[in-house]
Amino acid sequence: MKPTYESPIIKKLNAGMMNKFGSRTEYTPVKFIDNVAVADLMDQYGSPLFVISEKTIRQNYQKAVKAFKMRYPKVQFAWSYKTNYLDAVCQVFHQEGSWAEVVSGFEYQKALRNGVPGNLIIFNGPDKSKEDLMMAIENRSLIHIDHFDELFMLVEILEEKKDMKARVAIRINMDTGVYPQWDRFGFNYENGQAWNAIVKIIAQEKLQLEGLHCHIGTYMLTANAYVVAAHKMCELALAYANTTGKNIKYLDMGGGFCSSNTLKGSYLQGSDIIPTFNDYAEAITNTILQFGFRPDKLPLLILETGRALIDEAGYLLGTVLATKRLADGRRATILDTGVNILFTSFWYNHRVSPAQDFTLHAEETALYGPLCMNIDSIRESIILPILKKDDRIVIHEVGAYNMTQWMQFITLRPNVVMIDTSEKVHIIRKQETINTVVDCEIVPEHLK
Ligand SMILES: *Cc1c(COP(=O)(O)O)cnc(C)c1O
Repeated sequence: MKPTYESPIIKKLNAGMMNKFGSRTEYTPVKFIDNVAVADLMDQYGSPLFVISEKTIRQNYQKAVKAFKMRYPKVQFAWSYKTNYLDAVCQVFHQEGSWAEVVSGFEYQKALRNGVPGNLIIFNGPDKSKEDLMMAIENRSLIHIDHFDELFMLVEILEEKKDMKARVAIRINMDTGVYPQWDRFGFNYENGQAWNAIVKIIAQEKLQLEGLHCHIGTYMLTANAYVVAAHKMCELALAYANTTGKNIKYLDMGGGFCSSNTLKGSYLQGSDIIPTFNDYAEAITNTILQFGFRPDKLPLLILETGRALIDEAGYLLGTVLATKRLADGRRATILDTGVNILFTSFWYNHRVSPAQDFTLHAEETALYGPLCMNIDSIRESIILPILKKDDRIVIHEVGAYNMTQWMQFITLRPNVVMIDTSEKVHIIRKQETINTVVDCEIVPEHLK
């Protein structure tokens, strides 16, 4: 007899169960950031509040630079503006010696306003207008060409600009053994496009090919991908030298190093599985050093690492608005920190700490933001001590991408403060007011 059909079911795994580390995640409250009291910060600057530690930025930057400089003689970092382009943050990186790496005309202007000399700005990205390119040519910036249409546009512009040349590199994408492959930016290595772009540039007297660039992905969990990438970059540099008798001045290996945040779905904490700066540096510099360049002809190594340098320096402070029980009995905690300002909660299980003493009891809870939208979930499941209305929390590692990808949705963006290296607090971006929004709006006469 034919059995009756029963539709299959998909059952959600019960997260938050005991694992080999036990079930608790937080053992002590976080009451201070760089010795400044969290409670004082929130009393003075409001809630929610972004806090950036200048000390942590500098420490992380110096650690990263050291990892590379110990192994390779010519190293230059360029700060990835889109990761966090608050001027104060950029200035810390520039003071430390970073160039600027920008991906739009807007970011380019920001770098100029920050006093970065034009020749120390790297202009990446698929969207550069004719005006952007003219500005970059005049300022002697490094233009990293993304596609043939951009290459042709440059040739056209230079025809008009009689006595000018452009300093260029090409962005190269390639198979590094990490999938999905990022092949939408730049010219592909395996299918010959990259070499084709290079010979087209060689044929143009007014295009000076100075470097080769790749940015193979983001949050790369294996340093070995950079071995593959660096090797392919060196192959192209060698082919260029053999064809022209000239050397490529720099290899720009892009960014993509992990921060110690924990990706959603990861069993282990991010900090337990990510490669260190030393691992990445070893992978990249060994490949270049062993490739066979003459010691006096080693290319400059440029790095554009973003999230790994800034994530840990950023905190988001928030307040409990309410608590409730969901239909299935689970605890839910509603915070004033939503996905509108914490975009990365779509990818990460951010660590959340209570900011005041708590009792021993801990319970699984869902953390929601304040938006009247179902997507506004900060953690679907986290074991936390019992939080009650007006309690405060600290969300960790929010320095990368949140202060650029945040959206003005339902509510306004909050203050951002920086704690300097002598533990003084500065507002570096003022909280928005209703005027920030309505000043851009225009109501037609007949609707007034
Ligand atoms: C975004 C970006 C970076 C920085 O990437 P991270 O993953 O944050 O290190 C560097 N270079 C380019 C071209 C980028 O687009």
